Amino acid sequence: MKVILLILLNISILFGSYVQEEIWWKGDSLLTFFKKHNIDKNLYFNLSKTDKELCSEINAGVRYEVFYDDENIINQILIPISEEMQIHIFKDLDNKFALDIIPIEYQQTFQTISMPITSSPYLDIVRNTGNRALANAFMLAFKTKRVNFKRLKKSDNLAIKFKQKIRNGRYFGTPEIIGAILEVRGKKHFIFQNPDDDRYYDNNAKALVKTKFMTPLRYKRISSHFTYKRWHPILHKYKTHLGVDFAAPTGRELKATADGRIIHLGRKGGYGKTIIIRHKNGYKSLYGHLSKYNRKLRVGSRVKQGDYIGNVGSTGRSTGPHLHFGIYKNGRAINPLKLLKTNKKKSNGKLKTKYIQVAKKIKKDLLKVLKIKQVPMNIQEFNNVDKMPKSYLSFDNSMRENYGKI
Ligand SMILES: [Zn+2]
Repeated sequence: MKVILLILLNISILFGSYVQEEIWWKGDSLLTFFKKHNIDKNLYFNLSKTDKELCSEINAGVRYEVFYDDENIINQILIPISEEMQIHIFKDLDNKFALDIIPIEYQQTFQTISMPITSSPYLDIVRNTGNRALANAFMLAFKTKRVNFKRLKKSDNLAIKFKQKIRNGRYFGTPEIIGAILEVRGKKHFIFQNPDDDRYYDNNAKALVKTKFMTPLRYKRISSHFTYKRWHPILHKYKTHLGVDFAAPTGRELKATADGRIIHLGRKGGYGKTIIIRHKNGYKSLYGHLSKYNRKLRVGSRVKQGDYIGNVGSTGRSTGPHLHFGIYKNGRAINPLKLLKTNKKKSNGKLKTKYIQVAKKIKKDLLKVLKIKQVPMNIQEFNNVDKMPKSYLSFDNSMRENYGKI
């Protein structure tokens, strides 16, 4: 049914309807948003628990789209909640608003580029690619290697192999640097991402970030695993869970997973009572459904790894006490178990051999491109918004099954 509706909407877009891009402001919640746009707040209250959780994942500053019909009335809204999924608010056949969580359409490119350094790595990357997020990611990755940028000379070069999402003709999300070289006075410094824990290691398989993350509680079992998007053939909808649920009795003590500073302490929609801690090197951790907080903590408090921060509960949802534990790297949700697991296996020789093989391949690609010192011409065209079609207008339900297979 929605397919038909969307097709109709697409036609109507030709006749005076339009899309407006807006920014989600800090302090906005879905409820305040509904109030502003005269949308019935029961739409939120009637959501499933997991959908309510996902609706708490809207980040301040995110761009979202509001679709108006030719009478200036809203008929669709798309709000990203991660790099993979978005909230879709639309009118059903009774002309009432409905809400669904659907995949975001994007293309993904792999590129290996190189360039001579003329002013600074940051400025050169921005100038050559128009991609500030890539320049940021590069600087952040090399910060862990403690390269002295002041010693760079004009004859030095850099090379990057990276993955980038593109949406509506624009760079989208955080670029993922798979490997990079930075020459400093002719000496090559390498970093490679280890697929086992997504962290950066050097040429000798030495971890560049020493931070270890600890499991924040003693738990009975894992009641729900991490997933970006998985098609559920029976429920006929996507399942997304941007963290791990640890089942444990109410009151069980929670510990900070690593050193950091509290940046959120309070209710957060479907997550109920929530604490968010910012850690070094772009990491954040989120603890949801707490029954209470450590009274000594405030926003801004510093915590050490293992410090008591609060207790397990079931706020924000009614079934079973558990901890929802999320980890974010540069704003992107990552699988917490991947980080926790690799801590334990750090001395495993097999993992090291696997890493060395992966790194060898990336190194070969990087060195090949480093000689060319040139950015491919096509990389800049993604930055031109106007030339690209608004691909999300063509989304319909028939595409769902295909997305599930990615
Ligand atoms: Zn959860």
